[in-house]
Amino acid sequence: MQTQVLIIGGGVTGVGLARDLALRGVDCILAEAYDLNAGASGANHGLLHSGCRYVASDPHSARECHEESSLLRKLAPHVVEETGGYFVAVPGDDERYIADFPGRCRSAGIPVRSQDVPAAREQEPELAGNAVAVFEVPDATVDPFHLVLDTLTHARELGARFLGHTRLEGFEMRQGRVEIARLRNTRNGREYRVRADQIVNAAGAWAGEVAAMAGGNVAMRCVKGTLLVTHDRMTRRVINRLRPPGDGDILVPGGTVSILGTTSVRVESLDDIAPTVAEVDVNVEQGSAMVPGLASTRYIRAYAGVRPLLLEQDDSSDRNASRGVALLDHERDGLQNFVTITGGKLTTFRLMAEQTADLVCARLGVHAPCRTRTTPLPAAEPWRWNEAGLARKGWLSEHEPGDVLLCECEMVPRSGVDAILDMAAEEGEATGLKALNRRSRVGKGACQGTFCGLRLTSYLYDRDDLDSDEGIVQLRDFLEERWKGQRPVLWGPAAAQAELQEALYCGLMGLELPSTDREGA
Ligand SMILES: Cc1cc2nc3c(=O)[nH]c(=O)nc-3n(C[C@H](O)[C@H](O)[C@H](O)COP(=O)(O)OP(=O)(O)OC[C@H]3O[C@@H](n4cnc5c(N)ncnc54)[C@H](O)[C@@H]3O)c2cc1C
Repeated sequence: MQTQVLIIGGGVTGVGLARDLALRGVDCILAEAYDLNAGASGANHGLLHSGCRYVASDPHSARECHEESSLLRKLAPHVVEETGGYFVAVPGDDERYIADFPGRCRSAGIPVRSQDVPAAREQEPELAGNAVAVFEVPDATVDPFHLVLDTLTHARELGARFLGHTRLEGFEMRQGRVEIARLRNTRNGREYRVRADQIVNAAGAWAGEVAAMAGGNVAMRCVKGTLLVTHDRMTRRVINRLRPPGDGDILVPGGTVSILGTTSVRVESLDDIAPTVAEVDVNVEQGSAMVPGLASTRYIRAYAGVRPLLLEQDDSSDRNASRGVALLDHERDGLQNFVTITGGKLTTFRLMAEQTADLVCARLGVHAPCRTRTTPLPAAEPWRWNEAGLARKGWLSEHEPGDVLLCECEMVPRSGVDAILDMAAEEGEATGLKALNRRSRVGKGACQGTFCGLRLTSYLYDRDDLDSDEGIVQLRDFLEERWKGQRPVLWGPAAAQAELQEALYCGLMGLELPSTDREGA
């Protein structure tokens, strides 16, 4: 295969870059080792930062966040929920920080309004009764899955090529240049040899590993952040603690739930980043100071993502270092056609893509200007089953009487499942539970797959998508994926739910047994 630019990594940065290049008429291939959003882009808070969180530690980032979040609202309103946000201080929070906050926001160009505490509690009844200060800011939320899927769909319509489940395995070098990139499809073993004029390493927390394959150096360490999903939506707005960034200080509504986070723990290996009970406890304890109901609400799952921290950029505290964007030109390592883009935020992905595309285009001698500042992001219809809360509204207003619900918590009907599986088939993907899990919200609600898992598996057999005992194997994988997130939040009703799930799937179906034992039983 031949292309002008090969991009490694199908997170928000990689897909944003593919779309930017495609809009400039540059040919590119995007390769992702797993599926889209397998890294931090699928494991974050979904907060479209107003920038206020960074006004003290990094005013430059704060301004960028404000500008980029304003642009995304205008260009892709379908992936954004205009929630607004509050910054809330409670007794014991630093008075100097509170007093300086509005002035710092204004200096960064971000509108902020002091809010009377009783009036704020009328708007958000879950806020702590002892809150001492509340400021209203233009925070919003963004659906990272919908954003990435729409961005890639648009890039592909413009000619970009996408290789899913295709891992970069190594480079063949010649005179300080990457001549060939060797990639392998992890599902069918097929090898691709890609000859590209420029290589962009957008592999997030794996950027060091990818750069090392070409002899480049990205000095970084990785920090895990754990987030918790509540059973119900706790607040209408984003609620931030008015203090320097710390654990459990952001509560972000996401459709019908809220997401509380995050912690910040260094990790040595990216292979095991499961959330722990201790991290869950810290989030709940800290979060409940601003929203007391977080101490007693039901949580349905926890998940964790990893941020890359660039050591050369800032070796101060992990929280501050993690926010920086790193666009590294590896000419400094003697590599002429290799660039790394990592760090940053979901909120600023467009800007990161623009800066990277500018550098790459200058090397290619392409003078077409960036168009992502002005070109709206089209909404691709099939992705709507990924949007939290939307399926409910859609189903209630338009469903056909015979169109039964297969996932009740997230209101995904049979017609939705058919649409998702047809789309997966068009993309050459296997049409099973995994395809449904990645492309929709099935199994992500309160029952965490307990009821819909069985129903969906039966339906897949009805459609002839599954044969023999494939369903049992897929069902076990599907439940194991949900179980990873359930395990650290097992108390109260969530524990009862897990017991029921265990009784159903292990008691009735022997799913805890290896396949061979079950066959023999
Ligand atoms: C806990 C947490 C909460 C966050 N919350 C927010 C938030 O609320 N708002 C916000 O703006 N930002 C937030 N962020 C930051 C944001 O999520 C990231 O900045 C962004 O998702 C990074 O995207 P990326 O594409 O650079 O990296 P990633 O999404 O990590 O993508 C890198 C991709 O590269 C792939 N890859 C790796 N190696 C290879 C290989 N050899 N071959 C092919 N592919 C490979 C991986 O599979 C992965 O999919 C948060 C981050 C974390 C960790």
